[in-house]
Amino acid sequence: MRAAASANPGRIAPIVLERASCLATNGYPYEVCGLLLAQDPATEGRIDRLVELPNRHSGDRRVRFRIDPSDYQAGEQWAEDRGLRVAGVFHSHPDRAANPSAEDRAGAWPGFHYLIVPVGRAELGPSRVYRADAGGRLTASAMERPSLPRRDG
Ligand SMILES: [Zn+2]
Repeated sequence: MRAAASANPGRIAPIVLERASCLATNGYPYEVCGLLLAQDPATEGRIDRLVELPNRHSGDRRVRFRIDPSDYQAGEQWAEDRGLRVAGVFHSHPDRAANPSAEDRAGAWPGFHYLIVPVGRAELGPSRVYRADAGGRLTASAMERPSLPRRDG
């Protein structure tokens, strides 16, 4: 096993990255968002599902996203009905790298994982996973994948 894989405390399943990349591609040039779901009630559980939520930002959705509390609650209920829990949030960065914005940092919840998927017109950039510490400060977990040619559909 490579060191990079074991250094990723989020342990996001490949299927989740695949799905998030697909949503980011389909949603381009707007930011898409949703919840990362884990099986294990302990925080270190593997994240193996996601649920997409609407981007409710009222301004330019190419550069911001917002999850409504009611959408969040619906997603959380959907997860609980399946024995899952919310472990974090994913969103895309159209035409931008996977670095958290000031808003991303300000909105981070302690213990949550944040997956950011950069997507361009022609390709997906390397996704990144961040984790908010007890103070809500985001730190990078690991680079999840290299740049890939964009697949349509
Ligand atoms: Zn962002």
